[in-house]
Amino acid sequence: MVPVYRARLPAAEAILPYLRQIDASGQYSNRGPLVWAFERRLDSLLGGNAAHVVSAASGTAAIAAAILATAGPASAAAPLALMPSYTFVATAQAAELCGYRPWFVDVDAAGWALDPIRLRTNPQLGPAGVVVVAAPYGRLPDIEGWTRFAADTGRAVVIDAAASVEALARRVEATPDAPVGVPVAVSLHATKPLACGEGGLVLWSDRTGLERVARALNFGFLGSRSAQSAGFNGKMSEYHAAVGLAALDGWGARRSAVARLHARMARMIQARGLGPRLVAWPDIASCYLLHDAGEAGDPAARTQTLARRLDESRIEHRFWYGGGVHREPVFLGRDGCDALPVTEALAMRLLGIPVRAPGGGDAEDEAVAARVFDAMEQVP
Ligand SMILES: *Cc1c(COP(=O)(O)O)cnc(C)c1O
Repeated sequence: MVPVYRARLPAAEAILPYLRQIDASGQYSNRGPLVWAFERRLDSLLGGNAAHVVSAASGTAAIAAAILATAGPASAAAPLALMPSYTFVATAQAAELCGYRPWFVDVDAAGWALDPIRLRTNPQLGPAGVVVVAAPYGRLPDIEGWTRFAADTGRAVVIDAAASVEALARRVEATPDAPVGVPVAVSLHATKPLACGEGGLVLWSDRTGLERVARALNFGFLGSRSAQSAGFNGKMSEYHAAVGLAALDGWGARRSAVARLHARMARMIQARGLGPRLVAWPDIASCYLLHDAGEAGDPAARTQTLARRLDESRIEHRFWYGGGVHREPVFLGRDGCDALPVTEALAMRLLGIPVRAPGGGDAEDEAVAARVFDAMEQVP
């Protein structure tokens, strides 16, 4: 079976020098020297001159801590967290961990994300304590637009940009002084482009806000063992930072390899005339490749046909966001969503197909792509 994604994390030899530093320091968790070094390198990769990073145990922990740092826990006056349904289920679960009731809002047909202009007139904004904006497949939302939204509406905004590390790095290269006005949470899970196994981070220009993030991730403690605020244990360990530092050592090589892999794939796609039906890096994160069945006729039927062809060829495929979070059994049947026509359509239209993290054999990568494209060519 060809897996829908094959992750590649740093090899043991690349991690070993960092593990030896842990042996020497004797510090294993609680913001030790490797976590500190990892965060400072992430500052320059993702924050430029204008923002900083606090690491977390997972992307989900990063989202929850960002919510606590900017909105605090839910209250009777502000019980709702507005969010898209077209996202990974963790977006909603992180808000629930902070006491909020998710309220699902439809996404924009072009960007697949919430729209900071349209949301201003949503009736549910009244009882909303926080808006959690998701970056679909790593496509970065309009950070400036959401910063203005937060200022104008007085509502806290958190961006779940779990898979957006590449887009954030490009943003900083283009505009190193651009502030990050609302907290942005990123996942460093094995399946994301920059991976340390399990991990996450919050990127933000607000220094005291980041202190509140760090406090939420450490039982509400900051500088003393007294709980000052809502919190939990969401800290990154020194061991995960060791893997993360090794991943950063290989980051430049990985980026070049992603560009090479996609240049080769683009040639294959063009030769077969499949361009309009594929969504790929750099439009989305390099860990995803999507088949877009389009809008004309019966896209759901085309998607199902492709899924069957891929099954026959023993190629894994995945609806990365299922049918939308509102259709997950745990959320189904609750009073908690607007009408979601765009979400429903996207969920049937976009199918995740295999792509590999670069670093394996080129010939093997191309052979996998060729098998996937063969199956696509059999879809009318
Ligand atoms: C991966 C992902 C998460 C969860 O991140 P973890 O590190 O697995 O906790 C949350 N939201 C989105 C959109 C994701 O893609």
